[in-house]
Amino acid sequence: MLCDIHIHSCLSPCGDDDMTPNNIAGMAHLAGLDVIALTDHNSAANAAALEKCAGRYGIAVIGGIEVNTAEDIHLLCYFDNVKNAEIFGRIIEENLPPVKNRREIFGSQQIMDENDVVTAEKENLLISACALTLEQAVNLCHEHHGKAVYAHIDRDSYSVLSVLGTLPQEIEIDGVEIYDLSRRRALIESGVIKPDMPFMSNSDAHYLEYIGDRRQEVTPCHPLYDMIRAKTGNL
Ligand SMILES: [Zn+2]
Ligand SMILES: [Zn+2]
Repeated sequence: MLCDIHIHSCLSPCGDDDMTPNNIAGMAHLAGLDVIALTDHNSAANAAALEKCAGRYGIAVIGGIEVNTAEDIHLLCYFDNVKNAEIFGRIIEENLPPVKNRREIFGSQQIMDENDVVTAEKENLLISACALTLEQAVNLCHEHHGKAVYAHIDRDSYSVLSVLGTLPQEIEIDGVEIYDLSRRRALIESGVIKPDMPFMSNSDAHYLEYIGDRRQEVTPCHPLYDMIRAKTGNL
């Protein structure tokens, strides 16, 4: 089972307009992926359309969202079904500041149906930090039976390490995403993460050609191993 569960659609202002549900599903198929997730910034509004498109190729879709917390830390939240992701996403959106998107600067925020028809456009800027703290967002994710994973911890911006310098002990995180997996050993040796911390690596694709770039085998050390196993019955 190969997965890439950090992908942005045309709903994210920074996501390319070609990142439509059908194009993403088609590229995932070409990349040989079995499981994918959309993780748009602070919204899960395109997940349902993607699930329908991916279903045509037999690709499973996990409900996802990349929350930008009050501290400007990116947190990946996953749910075994798209409905729960949408419910969680609506709470996150309610906690966004009332800052309107300026599409000429940030890009468009398109919601599409399974035929890639634009059905609506989000007005509030989705890349803003929401009002929920990291701890509140993790707890809310767990209350909705989701899994919370620190996004791209080895990046210099919007990562828990770049903002806090460490993984806060009091937060019950389900795993970490390491963009460049070759850095995992150094993170363990420096004591930043424990050797048994579940980890994953994904493309964080904002453009079609990057989908599947950092696809990963779903093994027991993957933070979503149980969720994906239950979803696909295939591990
Ligand atoms: Zn991010
Ligand atoms: Zn991302």
